Amino acid sequence: MGGTPDYFAEVFHEDGFGELALLNGPYRVLGRGSNLLVDDGKLPFGVVRLAGALTKVWPVVGGEGDAVFLEAFSGVSLRAVARMALDIGGGGLEFGITIPGSLGGALRMNAGAHGQEIGPLVESLAVFDPKKGAFRELRKPEFSFGYRSLSVGGSSDESPFLIKALLLLTRRDPRDIRTTMDAFLSRRKATQPSGVFSCGCVFKNPPLPIPPAGRLLDLSGLKGACIGGAMVSKAHANFFVNVGNASASDFFRLINLARTRVLKDHGVELSLEVEVWKG
Ligand SMILES: Cc1cc2nc3c(=O)[nH]c(=O)nc-3n(C[C@H](O)[C@H](O)[C@H](O)COP(=O)(O)OP(=O)(O)OC[C@H]3O[C@@H](n4cnc5c(N)ncnc54)[C@H](O)[C@@H]3O)c2cc1C
Repeated sequence: MGGTPDYFAEVFHEDGFGELALLNGPYRVLGRGSNLLVDDGKLPFGVVRLAGALTKVWPVVGGEGDAVFLEAFSGVSLRAVARMALDIGGGGLEFGITIPGSLGGALRMNAGAHGQEIGPLVESLAVFDPKKGAFRELRKPEFSFGYRSLSVGGSSDESPFLIKALLLLTRRDPRDIRTTMDAFLSRRKATQPSGVFSCGCVFKNPPLPIPPAGRLLDLSGLKGACIGGAMVSKAHANFFVNVGNASASDFFRLINLARTRVLKDHGVELSLEVEVWKG
């Protein structure tokens, strides 16, 4: 679902970034679109995605003691990075096997599950600086992570084009990594909708001790609520699913309904986790 951008471009290798400067007008970076709600109609920006050689992940030799390093371009899927971690006996990214999307999207969103997030694993980031037309390597504390956010130079508003990341994992027996991944996958299967079109959790969880967003939505009786083709999942109330030809506008209206009900019933103002690309 969603509208049409000015243009769609894929960058296939590191040398391809020079050509981005030739494209007219602003653009946004697309990972795999698993955390996006894109408006209907014409979109006033282009969309750029990493492809080809920029979807690779590889082990980095030389980690001392229990340190296991792994490097990847941002276009690779997070699941592929988690599988590489399994292959080389790097623990800490087991949760990544459960999260759809690219490494770039995971970094931008500080994706996490089962009490862990990707942020603490990141040693360095390579970003593309469009003004200079060059890459820049960032090391801590030039970047930091918050709840579903990445800040560069102290600002989470600046949204750099993430090209590559170096992750530091901890040596762990691959059999144990596999067991943890299997447990996470089973838990997810039991608690979240699968085989449906969704954009993951729509709202961020409010700070403790307020119950999670899904619980508040459930208590407000919103499971199964439907507007057009958009429905609040019956399996997990914080997942809104496309049950057939939903428009973005169906989703926006359902989001407004859910927010209004939760505010009225629980006095909690929910903020969006899913990112909206407005036309
Ligand atoms: C079924 C389902 C389950 C989910 N479960 C979880 C979960 O457990 N935990 C969780 O945290 N999230 C979850 N999500 C949300 C989503 O998977 C994550 O946010 C994911 O990290 C987004 O990655 P993406 O590549 O799809 O990013 P997109 O949705 O394409 O983009 C998200 C943001 O990242 C930016 N971005 C993407 N790539 C780059 C790049 N290379 N450089 C700069 N910016 C970039 C985009 O511009 C956008 O701002 C779930 C989603 C679904 C559909």
